[in-house]
Amino acid sequence: MVEAARLAEAVDLVPLGRLPAGTLERLAARLSRRVELACHVLASADVPVRRIPNRDQLDAGALLESVEARAASDTRLLVGVAAEDIAVPLFTFVFGLARQGGRACVVSLARTDPAFYGLPEDPELRDERAVREVLHELGHLATLEHCPDRGCLMSFAGNVEKVDTRGGAFCEACRERLPHWLRGPSAA
Ligand SMILES: [Zn+2]
Ligand SMILES: [Zn+2]
Repeated sequence: MVEAARLAEAVDLVPLGRLPAGTLERLAARLSRRVELACHVLASADVPVRRIPNRDQLDAGALLESVEARAASDTRLLVGVAAEDIAVPLFTFVFGLARQGGRACVVSLARTDPAFYGLPEDPELRDERAVREVLHELGHLATLEHCPDRGCLMSFAGNVEKVDTRGGAFCEACRERLPHWLRGPSAA
């Protein structure tokens, strides 16, 4: 079976819960400059958000299931975006979650904001982190697993410092495995 990412003709961003006005439009605009696919913002998914008991976080696995259930098209990838922190039971938190080769993923913007760490606001840094999260999850949809190259967008980030140091581009080995629309400019 050919994975959805190969057939994709568009990426749709859908809000999961409330997001500050303009957030998804900014993210879609930024994403459009990084992928050769149309990026759209959908109206609220009305996705039921399940909280992890005794943790102020949404259940990322349950969110992903809900978003996948809404991903009705073979040619459109769906990215659910939450403002709230998300986690899976085994991890303190996750930046995002995707099933390899699936057609939907979820990301949280909670930890992209320097204010989360008590640092001064930095909209450029915040938005750049957000788009990198989305690109990383799209890489999983394109069947990539985590990459041992620490300078690659597909390397695992367990904290925001890693998100910043792994940069915004895929390594050559990962690039070769990506669909053309996700490759971005070559590092060479
Ligand atoms: Zn990952
Ligand atoms: Zn790589």
